[in-house]
Amino acid sequence: MSLSLRKFAAAALAAAISFGAAAEQTLKVGTEPTFPPFEYIDDQDKSNVIGFDIDIINAIAKAEGFKVEIVKMPFDGLIPALLTSQLDAAIAGMTITEEREKKVDFTAPYYDSGLSAVILKENAEKFKKLADLKNSRICGQIGNTGIDFAKKLSGNVAAFNTNPEAFLELRAKGCDAVITDKPVNEFFLRSQKEGLYAEIPEFAEVAQFGIAVKKGNDEVLKALNEGFDKLRKSGEYDKIYSKWFHSGN
Ligand code: GLN
Repeated sequence: MSLSLRKFAAAALAAAISFGAAAEQTLKVGTEPTFPPFEYIDDQDKSNVIGFDIDIINAIAKAEGFKVEIVKMPFDGLIPALLTSQLDAAIAGMTITEEREKKVDFTAPYYDSGLSAVILKENAEKFKKLADLKNSRICGQIGNTGIDFAKKLSGNVAAFNTNPEAFLELRAKGCDAVITDKPVNEFFLRSQKEGLYAEIPEFAEVAQFGIAVKKGNDEVLKALNEGFDKLRKSGEYDKIYSKWFHSGN
């Protein structure tokens, strides 16, 4: 190997080992873009994914000096894609759970969430509390904490690829409720002008979202946590938060 080639190989190796050492590395970040306001397809430009999570990961990348390539995939494909190193990270409103922590590492929590249920308004008298859904048919998204919770309430649970499909099933009266993260349910309610839906006024299972990386990928985890810390300190996090959660979104 010539000296210059050897130098090149050494530099490439160093870059591969020490994430962030070389400028402008690109991190492949997976998401599932049917989860507004966290991630969803931009109406103005269908090739673009927008949302709170996307702003957070881009701001972290800017603070840490790397680039982000957003990769769209089904929610239940994200962890397998991390495990097989097809992704460097996943940001998808993903709740930090003990089960998932056996497979992936999470950054420090970046958002406090929890579950709620959307029902048809015409059933608001029947379903006043989550416990009233006992033995009802509940819909949600595959691989989701909402589905796990639904199974505790009822033996009659249907899991769809996406939440929008679950909401369509509710509208068609194929199920009595959709259970998912409360901010996602509330975004959905605000986007519906016909007034067909209501939310059961109860908050279940407080949860926190984290960005996931393959277990042991400490370089990327450290860069994400450091970047997130910078956003907290600079006030950037608060700006992004109010853009998505205090402006009618
Ligand atoms: N927070 C829920 C979970 O982690 C839903 C995530 C999602 O559907 N994007 O399972």
